[in-house]
Amino acid sequence: MPTFAVKTAQSTYPAVVERGCLARVHEFIPQRAGKIFVASTADVWELHGERLTNGLDGRPFELLTFPGGEPRKRLAEVEALAEQMAAKGADRASVVVAFGGGILTDVAGFLAAVFMRGIPVVQIPTTLLAQVDAAVGGKTGVNLTAGKNLLGSFHQPLAVLIDPSVLDTLPEREYRAGLFEVVKHGIIADPDLFWLMRESVERVLHHDVAVVDRMIVDSVRIKSEVVAEDEKEGDLRRILNFGHTFGHALEAETGYSRFLHGEAVAWGMKAAVYLSRFEDLVDEAPAREMLGCVEAYGPIPALDGISADRIAARLAADKKTVRGQIHFVLAEGIGRVKVVCGVLDSRVLAAIDAALA
Ligand code: NAD
Repeated sequence: MPTFAVKTAQSTYPAVVERGCLARVHEFIPQRAGKIFVASTADVWELHGERLTNGLDGRPFELLTFPGGEPRKRLAEVEALAEQMAAKGADRASVVVAFGGGILTDVAGFLAAVFMRGIPVVQIPTTLLAQVDAAVGGKTGVNLTAGKNLLGSFHQPLAVLIDPSVLDTLPEREYRAGLFEVVKHGIIADPDLFWLMRESVERVLHHDVAVVDRMIVDSVRIKSEVVAEDEKEGDLRRILNFGHTFGHALEAETGYSRFLHGEAVAWGMKAAVYLSRFEDLVDEAPAREMLGCVEAYGPIPALDGISADRIAARLAADKKTVRGQIHFVLAEGIGRVKVVCGVLDSRVLAAIDAALA
């Protein structure tokens, strides 16, 4: 399995996709590094902590336990972790090892970004969503009441270590939530990956090893390429937000509790496909395939009681709004998207209605 070089202005680092790479964590922590702080959640640590400990090959470390969950992805938790680090003697030479799902990798990445103005972090994602998306690219952050990830930093890691074997313990719903981000990568950049997801639903849902590995490898390749072209989210990196503008509004509207992030993105991708149709950007046949592919990995939790008007109002508060204009990533075809602004409110509302139906 491959190692990708993620090239950014900040640094170039490896994203390793390899079954068993947990055993090699020590190779990615510089010998001269100071104290190692492993940040994880209790569930991940209980399931896979021993393998990570073995992978550190005798290097001593301190464990920082983060409670997990979107409501706890807040600055107060970062401060609490930083206080623990300081109390345990962390300094500028210390290294954070982020070991968990996307919430943990975002929080621990941000902790590393701001601790003493920035110390290195090694990202070891353990959910499908974090492996195919969150842990690659250096975006870190926490939520505000006003919205998701509104406080954050670009902080590229020393390395990203992706061991697909840890997914064997992932709850099924979490696995499916990650699949939607893989579908997204197919829609935005890779027709072959899209058709793999469209035509191999049974193999994907049965965790067929060859298919799982290919989904991860293709996704990490796509994400690495996009990030290399555009580290800090100009137009190119924005394509990764396909489905996210609508999805974030749905998450906020339901208090971050009804939908998993990937599920909200799934709904958001449907809204984005409808909007692409209403804007006459995409033909009906590919639009139907995209909707079908998203639905194949559902169902997502029920959408009853959600107001289209309120979702539309939330869109305006999204941080991807630039000078009052909402930028939508819309599909032109399978593997091709573009960033569009100046879309009529009535069409946005119609797309939300169609996706809620
Ligand atoms: P998550 O981090 O909550 O993980 C899901 C659950 O699975 C948690 O309870 C976790 O502890 C548990 N878990 C993790 N690995 C496991 C394993 N191997 N076996 C058993 N249980 C395991 O959720 P997520 O979907 O991974 O991440 C969602 C977050 O990622 C959101 O906050 C989102 O904003 C963020 N995200 C960030 C980026 C980025 O570019 N930084 C991109 C996409 C998503």
